[in-house]
Amino acid sequence: MIYLDNAGTTKMSEKAKEAMLPYFDNIYGNASSLHEAGQIAKDELEKARETIASLIGANTNEIYFTSGGSESDNLAIYSACKIGKIRGKNHIITTKFEHHAIMETLKEYEKLGFEVTYLDVYENGIVKSQDVLNAIKDTTCLVTIMTANNEIGTIQPIEEIGKICREKGVTFHTDAVQAVGHIHIDVKEMNIDMLSLSAHKFHGPKGVGALYVRKGIPVFSYIFGGSQENGRRAGTENIAGIVGMACALKESVEEMEEVSNREKKLRDKLFENLSKIPHSKINGDLEKRLPNNFNMSFEGIEGESLILLLSDEGICATSGSACTSGSLDPSHVLLSIGLKHEIAHGSLRLTLSKYTTEEEIDKTISAVPKIVEYLRKMSPIWDEMEKGVKEHVI
Ligand SMILES: *Cc1c(COP(=O)(O)O)cnc(C)c1O
Repeated sequence: MIYLDNAGTTKMSEKAKEAMLPYFDNIYGNASSLHEAGQIAKDELEKARETIASLIGANTNEIYFTSGGSESDNLAIYSACKIGKIRGKNHIITTKFEHHAIMETLKEYEKLGFEVTYLDVYENGIVKSQDVLNAIKDTTCLVTIMTANNEIGTIQPIEEIGKICREKGVTFHTDAVQAVGHIHIDVKEMNIDMLSLSAHKFHGPKGVGALYVRKGIPVFSYIFGGSQENGRRAGTENIAGIVGMACALKESVEEMEEVSNREKKLRDKLFENLSKIPHSKINGDLEKRLPNNFNMSFEGIEGESLILLLSDEGICATSGSACTSGSLDPSHVLLSIGLKHEIAHGSLRLTLSKYTTEEEIDKTISAVPKIVEYLRKMSPIWDEMEKGVKEHVI
């Protein structure tokens, strides 16, 4: 199997897996217990917190463990809205192409009376920091903008946005789930108040993540119960997962330069070869982009059919097409960068990892053009375009 869906999730690293094993065995204490078994667990928990904090430039007491990226995003928005409400502020700024964990959460807050500004990300998939500045009002209680997009991999000007928010006194959250472990992140250098991360996107286990919250920024519990995580998130800690996450992040940061250089080389080989397919288009900026992200659209095909035929060849890929995601509209990300519906439907995302080999990329390079040609031959729309009845869009 050729796995090219690493933005969806990643394979666990051997080291992380091994680091977790003792917690399914001898180290089973509850970190809240005062006895020895509990204190051993507590020590390991705090060591993991320290590791994660230091790897993103945070202080240890600024890290809150959660069940993953979605929960971290929810907790960040909840906290900012709660303090916003207390202070009489109800305006949130975000972009048009955030992850569903942000988009759907904000929709709920809109129903509760919050006003949300969705900023343009233009054709290159990058928000303008000047637009953030222009959108800030007296009532703004939160700016939430992702560090890197999960579909097209574009990297946002986080440091600049952070600086603007800091100067204006507005809380700045970033969903960095795609970025942490893949590109350099330093919450202090980048002026970030809150940051979400998730272990399974950097070769750690699923179901565990963290929210960084800068000291002085209020964070409110929305899961009530015990006093875990400084009273902000009740529930017995997932120690095995947390230790696995810390181990995986350490490994990812240590290997980052080497891995990203290799991924970039292979990814560029994909772009170079697959952009030879006529009537195709690269989606998102090529420079300000995650090293492992490839995204292109091919006119006259359905992404879903492409994914299924690639899967028959043993290649795991994704598309921003409708049916794969269970809705009629194509991905909001591809629409946000101005793609017409029919072009957005014919998109292909390939995301690499440290485990991706050149041989796998070569096989993909030979499979995709054949499948695109095959699908175009069967497409009535493509037929009309070829006959000149309908015009090509790209
Ligand atoms: C995967 C992802 C999430 C959700 O993280 P989970 O740990 O799966 O809940 C949120 N935001 C982005 C950008 C992601 O890629």
